[in-house]
Amino acid sequence: MTSQSTPTQQLPVLRLRRGKEDSLDRFHPWVFSGALTEMPQEGSGIDEGDLVSVVASDGRVIGTGHFQIGSIAVRMLSFGDETIDEAFYRRRLSEALRLRMALGLRRDDNDAFRLVHGEGDFLPGLVIDIYGDTAVLQAHSPGMHFARDIIARELVAIEEAGVRNVYYKSETTLPYKARLDPQNDYIIGSYSGNIATENGLRFHIDWLRGQKTGFFVDQRDNRSLLRRFSQGRKVLNMFCYTGGFSVYALAGGASLVHSVDSSAKAISLTDANAELNFPGDPRHKSYAEDAFKFLDNMESGAYDLIVLDPPAFAKHRSALRNALRGYQRLNARAFEKIAPGGILFTFSCSQAVSKEQFRLAVFSAAAQSRRKVRILHQLTQPADHPVNIYHPEGEYLKGLVLYVE
Ligand code: SAH
Repeated sequence: MTSQSTPTQQLPVLRLRRGKEDSLDRFHPWVFSGALTEMPQEGSGIDEGDLVSVVASDGRVIGTGHFQIGSIAVRMLSFGDETIDEAFYRRRLSEALRLRMALGLRRDDNDAFRLVHGEGDFLPGLVIDIYGDTAVLQAHSPGMHFARDIIARELVAIEEAGVRNVYYKSETTLPYKARLDPQNDYIIGSYSGNIATENGLRFHIDWLRGQKTGFFVDQRDNRSLLRRFSQGRKVLNMFCYTGGFSVYALAGGASLVHSVDSSAKAISLTDANAELNFPGDPRHKSYAEDAFKFLDNMESGAYDLIVLDPPAFAKHRSALRNALRGYQRLNARAFEKIAPGGILFTFSCSQAVSKEQFRLAVFSAAAQSRRKVRILHQLTQPADHPVNIYHPEGEYLKGLVLYVE
């Protein structure tokens, strides 16, 4: 047992049922509750968030993970015989940082990036986004919630990371039933300004009240691509949130940029970001309106570059069919109305929707409009959102750039 070989960590043991070790032997980081001989019950001495040792039916040690009540019972932190302590988190965080440095994401003109992307950085249940000298830490599992102070301390101790403040933001990401009652607050440091730079453009990041960690860093590369398509175009940025695509379009020389979001708060963030980069620029206008309504009411041919980046229509597999219908309806309206020679950037961030399913929904929408449509680019998440090859579920962002005649 692990507890014998690592005397510093006497961990409770969870045993797999016979034949259930295959996916773990291929390093898939989740243990489903049905794979365990027995799911620990309340009062068993194993509590949610505890570190557990996972062993095969023959007693062979597979590794260590965080226990959780739910269909995913254990999220594996390590395969083999590794003690999960401060040094473990220091190693994982340093590895994560080394990759981001290799990608050149911390530069004078770029200090917004994702440092830890859960399973993609071998830290299931943990997300860390960096904005300048502030890190926003988000736990998706009780185990990471309990480890938050250690993680914050180790992160600040890594000098190269350049992090002085760590803000914890997990009020909406932890399982409600776990009753952890997390408070969004600074674990280390305090507010030191909220402007981050992405590819030379500046953004107010609202980690205190905004969605996710305050900004969608995952669209960085796709926004860069859009900048190259923007010269002289009339741009419509649907579901604009903080106005990321809008600011890049302005930077790329768009003749006008209209931003739409149903949330008034998002629209004020967009306006602030347009203003921060292009003060008083009359090319930008924003509308707090429902996207479908806006598309229904807009004039045909008013825009020749349209971005559709809606929220995840399918948060779960059960919602898949409706989600696909939603993507089809949304894209069909854009195909109907985009000017000839138009460019459509269309996305899905639903993990439950596959690349093929998304493409099929867009294909159906195109066919419905009877326009001539060609795929110019197939987009995905950027390299600071890496996909652990043993955890293909980590691939979630899909996009197409289409040329519509
Ligand atoms: N494109 C953004 C991220 C989009 S997040 C970026 O690059 O940062 C999705 C956004 O869609 C949210 O801001 C949400 O307020 C908005 N939204 C959700 N439903 C909507 C609807 N029906 N109409 C318009 N906006 C909507």
